[in-house]
Amino acid sequence: MSEVATPKTNLLGLTRAGMEEFVLGMGEKPFRARQLMKWIYRRAEGDFEAMTDLGKDFRRRLSGIAEIRAPEVITSQVSADGTRKWLLRFESGQAIEMVFIPEPGRGTLCISSQVGCTMDCGFCSTGAQGFNRNLGTAEIVGQVWLANCELGYSPDGDRVITNVVFMGMGEPLMNYRNVVPAAEIMMDDLGLDLSRRRVTISTSGLVPQMIRIADETNVALAVSLHAPNDELRSELMPINRRHPIASLLEACWHYVEKQNARGITFEYVMLDGVNDRPEHARQLAALLRGHPAKVNLIPFNPFPGTRFRRSSEEAIERFRDLLIKGGVIATIRRTRGDDIDAACGQLVGRVNDRTTVRLRERNLIPASVTHP
Ligand code: SAH
Ligand code: SF4
Repeated sequence: MSEVATPKTNLLGLTRAGMEEFVLGMGEKPFRARQLMKWIYRRAEGDFEAMTDLGKDFRRRLSGIAEIRAPEVITSQVSADGTRKWLLRFESGQAIEMVFIPEPGRGTLCISSQVGCTMDCGFCSTGAQGFNRNLGTAEIVGQVWLANCELGYSPDGDRVITNVVFMGMGEPLMNYRNVVPAAEIMMDDLGLDLSRRRVTISTSGLVPQMIRIADETNVALAVSLHAPNDELRSELMPINRRHPIASLLEACWHYVEKQNARGITFEYVMLDGVNDRPEHARQLAALLRGHPAKVNLIPFNPFPGTRFRRSSEEAIERFRDLLIKGGVIATIRRTRGDDIDAACGQLVGRVNDRTTVRLRERNLIPASVTHP
């Protein structure tokens, strides 16, 4: 009878406490956890053999039961504006896309929390794909770790990645169990050491999880609002039928108070003739005025088969001006990486069969195309 090999523990999935537990389980002292984390995150080292201060025997035993495994790069593209996009594959075979957006003084990495998404928002290509699975903590942290390596991370140099946003594929709060420890590792000074205000979870509005997260961690929160009244929001985002706007906003203000946070960023995708009229701007201003809120208007990014169109530039600017006039801070998100389809809502990954089938069923991709 052949023996079933126990899978190795991917150390990228362990928080500081988890790493301590792991080394204790190996009969080592807790400070070994600190040493390991320094190698993994400060030096971006993925090979135990190179960790020369660890002792030969410990390194050998580590290699037997543990690994530092990032997703595999299938392709990498650079846009004319410097935006980079990677197609990444996990051990299980599924793929996702990841985007890095360089700007003066900062670099933002957009990562995924799930392969696909269950939330089914009508304007989102991920939503149209259906859902395949949650990513594990190591798979989420592994995206940032890999991007650091790919972008030429050096322990003494300036940071290339200063901000991480969960705005790729998936609804992060539907994968709470893996996303929260991943965010902790990103914000831990022994981990990826990102500032707490610079790790942002974007959610379509899962109210119970938003209330829970207020007690458990302190990442920055962005909320996808996209409509100023329940009728329209429920049409665009099925989640609104379960958690309407009033309860969503209540959860937002609770989060700000509990966390002593600066405020909430509300994302609002600009859909031509759907949610971009002056009365929508006025309704939105009335909802948010007087609260610690900022609105980020996102020009809609089309994808094959969508029934929506992007609002005109004039409509977007008028909408922003009306919000500001109504007492609400508002900005327009510059679309980046257009030439490589790297913009919000366009990330697809070379999806697995099930997903592709679902896309085809909904006539969103022609039968001959495997990578929409
Ligand atoms: N599921 C989370 C995070 C991922 S989506 C959420 O919905 O918040 C990140 C942002 O991109 C969200 O605000 C989402 O609504 C927006 N988005 C989705 N599809 C888009 C599209 N086609 N064009 C522009 N923005 C889009
Ligand atoms: Fe999922 Fe966010 Fe897309 Fe909605 S917008 S389907 S929650 S990824």
